[in-house]
Amino acid sequence: AVPLVVAKSTSLSAQHGLLIKNRTAFENSRKISTVVFDKTGTLTVGKFEVARIVIPEHPGGEAAEDNLLRMAGALERNSEHPIATGIMDQVNRRKLSLPEAQNFQAITGKGVEAMVEGKHVKVVSPGYLQEKSISLPNDFASTSNETVVFVLVNELMYGYIALADTLRPESAGAIRTLHENSIKALLLTGDNEKVAASVSNQLNMDGYFAGVLPHEKLEKIKQLQAKGDFVAMTGDGVNDAPALAQADIGIAVGSGSDIAAETAGIVLVNSNPKDIVNLILFGKATYRKMI
Ligand code: ADP
Ligand code: MG
Repeated sequence: AVPLVVAKSTSLSAQHGLLIKNRTAFENSRKISTVVFDKTGTLTVGKFEVARIVIPEHPGGEAAEDNLLRMAGALERNSEHPIATGIMDQVNRRKLSLPEAQNFQAITGKGVEAMVEGKHVKVVSPGYLQEKSISLPNDFASTSNETVVFVLVNELMYGYIALADTLRPESAGAIRTLHENSIKALLLTGDNEKVAASVSNQLNMDGYFAGVLPHEKLEKIKQLQAKGDFVAMTGDGVNDAPALAQADIGIAVGSGSDIAAETAGIVLVNSNPKDIVNLILFGKATYRKMI
């Protein structure tokens, strides 16, 4: 039987956008010393808008931009990543018709690839370029709030798409409240260093890990635990499931994959970081009453 105080807090939590799947996770929420946040869709709105399209050999050429978008769109219509959604919005806005993509594949944590009109096309992260020793385009520059993906055709640089997402209005306040409760807030993201640093600074977080591949997320959580941290982690993707399972408390964000939600002890129905603060406060209040 669930003690009455817990049942009451559980229903209170539901009203605050928290789905508590595992009572131990709820009970342990009062022990949290560090919350590790994913970025996209949790601290940010999760809606990427295309800000710039750059083809170094055709600066400012709209036809060249459309061509690049057709290549990228042929791949991204097969992906559910928020970056893919942002690119497809732009494709639709320009009313572009897309060629067929064959042998579409995700490159986990790094991008997507397929054959388009007999050419091998990839849309990939800065980390992928670095790993393959492919140099950045000439005159490459990005601002601190841009997520950049590069379009490679037969392994050659064709151009890049810069996208921007916006911070959720509730994020700064959520982190402030964590600090008031002596809880640290860290950012863990596959996105690039500049974006991670900018989000971390704007929200006054305690640090960030950028360009982290899905399998490395688990290791980062283990490292924090080895230092004695009691870690809550948020995540959405299939890729986040192992790290969510490793965390002392796994928190799946609502819009994410079913696998993340199955693995996690808690689900944030509205993906709102403020609800994590409520979780911790409820947990403290509930178990204080029981002792
Ligand atoms: P996170 O969930 O922390 O943002 P992901 O593993 O989902 O990390 O993505 C990491 C990076 O991989 C993205 O920032 C992007 O550069 C690249 N990437 C992932 N999926 C796609 C995609 N569909 N199209 C282009 N790039 C992608
Ligand atoms: Mg993700």
